[in-house]
Amino acid sequence: MIRISEIFGPTIQGEGALIGQPTVFVRTGGCDYRCSWCDTLHAVDSEFRHEWKPMSAEDIMDKVEKLSNGKPLMVSLSGGNPAIQPLGDLINLGHEKGYQFALETQGSIAKDWFAELDTLTLSPKPPSSSHETDWEVFDECVKAAGSKTRTVMKIVIFDDADYAYAQDAAARHPDLPLYLQPGNHSVDGAPDMDGLNKRLLWLAERVTNDNWHNAHVLPQLHVMLWGNQKGV
Ligand code: SF4
Repeated sequence: MIRISEIFGPTIQGEGALIGQPTVFVRTGGCDYRCSWCDTLHAVDSEFRHEWKPMSAEDIMDKVEKLSNGKPLMVSLSGGNPAIQPLGDLINLGHEKGYQFALETQGSIAKDWFAELDTLTLSPKPPSSSHETDWEVFDECVKAAGSKTRTVMKIVIFDDADYAYAQDAAARHPDLPLYLQPGNHSVDGAPDMDGLNKRLLWLAERVTNDNWHNAHVLPQLHVMLWGNQKGV
């Protein structure tokens, strides 16, 4: 069984390599991290555990098919950390029905079924998260995905230390396409839009001034459109 926090959509992917693409989100419950600025605590904190529901791969696909009117699209597996959950059967079942699967994880747990994904977004957490990256495990995640899965790296950036961390991460994995996004600080549960926009401008200027030409700088599109609202 897979522990599900929420399934919703279709909406559009607001981040990373698939930004703007219509998708249904399957958000799993539980995470091995507690980032200081996490904006999906309802899928992380055990205080919300009573809201998480164990579901089979078949039940999840039924719900995804209902939401998408049976028309295959990209399914985004998110969390929490979805790598905690047994998702191989779900991915295979969905593929049989013509659906595609993208998964985002911090890269702290490697699973052999990463090789079944269409897209794997590895999003290592910078110093502002209060976590340290275990690069050996991160490398295992890249290896597990193999050459068939499209693997990319996405890093959220709040400050100079995070920016330096992103440069180090890019140097460790020069072959992974890299997406940088300004971090989202919430104030009383609402995103600080002014801060987010200023950080985006700062990041864009920093990357261009540093001639960092293979980095992609993106906004947090879903936050711009819907703030921190759940289920969109
Ligand atoms: S890894 Fe992601 S879901 Fe987990 S605590 Fe950090 S930001 Fe939240």
